[in-house]
Amino acid sequence: MTLQDFFPQEAGLVVTDFALTPDLLAIALKTTCPSSQCPDCGQLTYRIHSHYRRVLADLPWQARRVLLRIELRKFRCMNAACPRQIFCERLPHVFASHARTTDRLKALQKQIGLALGGRPGTRLTEKLFVPTSKDTLLRRAKDKVDSLTTPRVLGVDDFAFRRGQNYGTILVDLEKHRVLDLLPDREAKTLACWLKAHPQVEIVSRDRATAYAQGIREACPQSIQVTDRWHLLKNLREAIERWFDGKREKIRELIQKSHCEKPSVIQELTNQVAGGLSDRQKSRMEQ
Ligand SMILES: [Zn+2]
Repeated sequence: MTLQDFFPQEAGLVVTDFALTPDLLAIALKTTCPSSQCPDCGQLTYRIHSHYRRVLADLPWQARRVLLRIELRKFRCMNAACPRQIFCERLPHVFASHARTTDRLKALQKQIGLALGGRPGTRLTEKLFVPTSKDTLLRRAKDKVDSLTTPRVLGVDDFAFRRGQNYGTILVDLEKHRVLDLLPDREAKTLACWLKAHPQVEIVSRDRATAYAQGIREACPQSIQVTDRWHLLKNLREAIERWFDGKREKIRELIQKSHCEKPSVIQELTNQVAGGLSDRQKSRMEQ
């Protein structure tokens, strides 16, 4: 295996040099594909306009940060009808246009942002040798989640971008146990907008927020709304508490009555235990 094997073959990248320090692995690469496709009209062109370099952060290696320095080219679009004359070549399997990080590092940052949020996520990225600011982690978390087919059973719940200040909505495919999307707020209108684009949802599990119920009714009236398990148990606990609150006087009366009529359960147990003890143990208990 060589350094080159760490990059997708279809990207056509060749490693030309590398440097290793105690903290950093720097890899120089260049592209080899003779042509590139215009991003506007899609026409292939072989006419190189100029060269430029781009530096990208990549996944860490052996407790070192990894930086890629890639020699890229600008091409001329030869389609006379195309509004774009010059364009930068793209490597869709490695990095996005104008990105400063590789796609695979971006995916890691997104997972950390989703799992831990800003500040705790930043501390983890430092330990993992991919230091990332909290703003970047939160931006990654808000990025469109991988597009998936419309779920049949959708879970809707709120989550904190910043606890006590800024809340959003998380949408989960409850059958595949995958996060589908993150909405920027908890408004009925925002959820309704998402559901209108995914009308095949059959069942929506939600908390007790009226905004979510309203958004679902508005955009997806045919779907069945169910309370999620946590709120179902909360409803049950509160219903039981209310029932006992209403019977408080009656319960007190029954307890007092039982005290008058016969010894309490605790007293009965104490008597039974005492009956099984020796005289010496009984005298110790009385002391
Ligand atoms: Zn073009």
